[in-house]
Amino acid sequence: MAKVTTLAEKIDALLPQTQCTKCGYDGCMPYAEAIANNGAAINRCPPGGDEGIAALAALLDQAIVPLDPECGAHIPHRVAMIDEAACIGCAKCLKPCPTDAIIGANKFMHTAIASLCTGCELCIPPCPVDCITMVEDKNFPALPNVDIARERFHLHTFRLIRDSQERIDALADKERAVLYDQHAPR
Ligand code: SF4
Ligand code: SF4
Ligand code: SF4
Repeated sequence: MAKVTTLAEKIDALLPQTQCTKCGYDGCMPYAEAIANNGAAINRCPPGGDEGIAALAALLDQAIVPLDPECGAHIPHRVAMIDEAACIGCAKCLKPCPTDAIIGANKFMHTAIASLCTGCELCIPPCPVDCITMVEDKNFPALPNVDIARERFHLHTFRLIRDSQERIDALADKERAVLYDQHAPR
């Protein structure tokens, strides 16, 4: 059976997949759903800029409007750079990164992979030592491929849910073991 593509999926296909939340939604698909289902404005995505607005306007048969400045400005693509000498290896930047573009382990320095970085800036606020900056990189002047970025975001989300469920299961096992100890016949 042919796959049914919803309007939200068609809109999502035109969004840059940085998952930066600058549109005011929790990511590209939530914004796409808000446009498709609740009539959200098409001019709220700074990474997509004028080109993205024009593509959405064509899809939805709407007029082209300027980017809403309240969401931010459209700037050239930048990638995260970690000052590895300053990094304390706390790993707090790993979880927020939608494409798992940061590698490193607890207590070891971390590195951002420029080719996978969407420039979302979500890794910056959690860093306790402010050692992440956004820089233009002539080798990676444009956003990563949207299909790869979307796929990596889905895998990232799946992993977070799975890890959280594993923690809940481990806690439940521990509680069951304590109860068993308390009530086991002596
Ligand atoms: S790229 Fe950022 S601003 Fe644009 S739709 Fe995705 S989350 Fe929203
Ligand atoms: S490294 Fe930082 S800026 Fe780059 S995609 Fe990950 S969270 Fe976003
Ligand atoms: S949050 Fe900052 S200090 Fe911690 S691992 Fe990431 S880059 Fe290093």
